Amino acid sequence: MEKTTKPVQNGNNKKTSTAAAPVKAKYDAAKGLRDLLVDELKDIYWAEKALTKALPKMIKNSTAESLITALKGHLEVTIKQVSRLEQVFDELGEKAVAKKCEAMDGLIREAGEIMEATEVGVVRDAGIILAGQKVEHYEIATYGTLCSFAKTLGEQKVASLLEETLNEEKEADVKLSEIAESNINIEAAKN
Ligand code: FE
Ligand code: ZN
Ligand code: FE
Ligand code: FE
Repeated sequence: MEKTTKPVQNGNNKKTSTAAAPVKAKYDAAKGLRDLLVDELKDIYWAEKALTKALPKMIKNSTAESLITALKGHLEVTIKQVSRLEQVFDELGEKAVAKKCEAMDGLIREAGEIMEATEVGVVRDAGIILAGQKVEHYEIATYGTLCSFAKTLGEQKVASLLEETLNEEKEADVKLSEIAESNINIEAAKN
């Protein structure tokens, strides 16, 4: 027998309609792309600063030399990325302000969870790479978009600064894949 496709009555009507409605904008909401760019720069500025504090913990929990070296290298890069963002704010005539990035805060907390959920050694190393790559992908998405915003706004200098960082994040991601696939994952699979 054919199924009828009449609309189903939702018992929890109120909740559903609230979720579907547009979110009410705050009084200081962005009105244009430039405002959105600046808001998101504040977000990634917070995120990079948070990473300068989170990476040392990930380094301390790693055992493979290749991983430790890569994370230490990326910590140095991250510190430079913080200054590069300050250059970007300067270029735009804006104050460098950090605004809590909920996503990075979550990714860092998740990295902590992954470490707690794994025994020290190759398995935790594999988990740290996983957590690290989640972070890099968030950064790649952010810098890719912000670079595109800057280009649209005719902010060439800002775009090239953001592109420099974007390339560093991509490099870090590739490097972590290489480390995982060259031996850590295979060793971890033996346990
Ligand atoms: Fe970064
Ligand atoms: Zn964020
Ligand atoms: Fe996000
Ligand atoms: Fe990064």
